[in-house]
Amino acid sequence: MKIVRKTKSVEILIDVFKNSHNAFSVVNLIDRFKDEMNKTTIYRILEKLEQDGVIHSFLGIDGLKWYAKCQDCSSHHHIDTHPHFQCQSCGKLDCLQTEITIPSIQNRQIDFAQILLVGKCEKCLS
Ligand SMILES: [Zn+2]
Ligand SMILES: [Zn+2]
Ligand SMILES: [Zn+2]
Repeated sequence: MKIVRKTKSVEILIDVFKNSHNAFSVVNLIDRFKDEMNKTTIYRILEKLEQDGVIHSFLGIDGLKWYAKCQDCSSHHHIDTHPHFQCQSCGKLDCLQTEITIPSIQNRQIDFAQILLVGKCEKCLS
């Protein structure tokens, strides 16, 4: 298993995802760390972390790419079949701790699934 080389930039980005079920968009991360690292570095690190099974990516309602921490994934084998939830009011996106059964379909091989549930988060509901 390949391990991501722990540069300072890598550590900063891993820290963002650690202990959080929240997802972060690439745009958000670029803006947040614009003083510490450039865009290309962020793209490169995120891509590498995804390859190594540390984070997974998916698209939000706005078509932006979002990343969140993986639970039990390994290098080149992602097993993230949980749905994601995005709030229409505040835009927050997170991983749901719910299992969704992916149906098996005849003559098709399913490699991954992207399920995005859209609505209002707990904060916007109250
Ligand atoms: Zn994963
Ligand atoms: Zn909300
Ligand atoms: Zn997720």
